[in-house]
Amino acid sequence: MNVENVFFTEDIIRATSGMLLNGDMGSSFRGISTDTRIIKPGYLFWALKGKNFDGHDFWKEAIEKGAKGLVISRFSSGFRLEDLPKTISVILVKDTLSALGDFAKFWRKKLNCVVVAITGSCGKTTTKELTFEILSRFFQTFKNLANYNNLIGVPLSILSMKEGTEVGVLELGTNAPGEIARLSEIVFPQVSVITCVYPAHLEGLGSLEGILEEKLSIFKNTDLNGKLVYFYDQEPLREKVKVFKQEKISFGFEEGADLRAKNLELDKDKLKVEIAFKTHKKSLILPQIGKHNVLNLLAAIAVGLSLNLDLDSIAEKIEKEVPLYQRAKCYKKGRFLIIDDTYNANPGSMKASLEWLRSFSDYPQKIVILGDMLELGPESKRYHEEVGDLAKQVADQAYFIGENAKFYAATFSPKPCEVFTTTEEFLEALKFLRIKDLFFGNTAILVKGSRGLRLERVVERLLEEL
Ligand code: ATP
Ligand code: MG
Repeated sequence: MNVENVFFTEDIIRATSGMLLNGDMGSSFRGISTDTRIIKPGYLFWALKGKNFDGHDFWKEAIEKGAKGLVISRFSSGFRLEDLPKTISVILVKDTLSALGDFAKFWRKKLNCVVVAITGSCGKTTTKELTFEILSRFFQTFKNLANYNNLIGVPLSILSMKEGTEVGVLELGTNAPGEIARLSEIVFPQVSVITCVYPAHLEGLGSLEGILEEKLSIFKNTDLNGKLVYFYDQEPLREKVKVFKQEKISFGFEEGADLRAKNLELDKDKLKVEIAFKTHKKSLILPQIGKHNVLNLLAAIAVGLSLNLDLDSIAEKIEKEVPLYQRAKCYKKGRFLIIDDTYNANPGSMKASLEWLRSFSDYPQKIVILGDMLELGPESKRYHEEVGDLAKQVADQAYFIGENAKFYAATFSPKPCEVFTTTEEFLEALKFLRIKDLFFGNTAILVKGSRGLRLERVVERLLEEL
């Protein structure tokens, strides 16, 4: 990824405790790149070691493409300082990834803006987008691009923040212990959000308790004068949050939440919802976004409130101006509605999507096409069985795909379902399944599974064939 701003060698050296091996301490760069395929002249090339490649091996290409400097932690083959012109700065650091974080931390301090950091098992990107849409009506606001929420993406996002930014909204993700602690130390938020805590990435984070601790480290690293926004309806989270001293705003459907949504009413494809904060109440009419997205919207509103905006002005913007971002996309094709939620899946998001599918009362017949939920560790079988059971209450027919598909099927039966080991196998079978002929009347189809299964191929095929 490339980031554009003016960066000074002296600042980088100071922030990263690096050593200048070549070049001039007074030099500067007009951008930073970690990828020689997209690097531009005048940039600093920051060599990172990835799963498949090590950036250090591309130092020559970086210079050939006009890089004015390199940040490295080792000399790779053919690299000799004596061969380099004095115009190329070479900064040696202990570890290039942590140096990137350290430099982002420096940049964030220098910008002196308010940072809103968002983490949780599901809904981070959605909440980030909604928060950005609301806040940008009131402040000069920045958000991290796409899903750049890891130890590389977050620092690069910060480094692309411009002077004059009033609020930066950043998504922080994790799949190993300590990542949220490190990321929140870098971004040092004034407002932090935990959207929800569900089993996800259990293989990296161990247990639900481990996930909870991991997410809570965002609150540990939040400014003591800052504010904490959290999901009220999950008791373990609610309890753990009590130890934190910062001011808190909770959100949820349950009584007791500071910001609460109630009396949800679905009317055709509109969702009416009442929102209450202290003595203020507001009715909103939204598209049919699903209950989970109402929660994400509440989280975004809570961030607005924590920055002293009032509920009335936020609500006014939401109804009139704010496009309600949703991760899942819906397509209408004749009497079929295809819900493309193929982006990813874990038990929490599966349940949320199944509840959403249930709410489409204009489509009395329902089909689910569900792929494995990956990275769930030893409890994986049980999580698939639970989802299979919930799917049985919602859908009339199911197609399950992946190594764990049989566990979905075990609890979905005796309702009709079929099991496929791979997405390719299902795509092959789809030619003969004749879904179009099996179902008469309005039918909604939910397609969802972990990223690894790439079920968007199923959605494409359905759009062609239905
Ligand atoms: P990632 O960890 O991949 O970055 P994310 O936390 O950013 O994911 P989103 O991209 O916003 O999450 O949403 C992913 C999916 O999670 C959605 O398509 C939906 O199925 C589900 N989801 C979103 N918000 C919630 C929520 N608040 N509760 C439960 N499930 C949710
Ligand atoms: Mg995300």
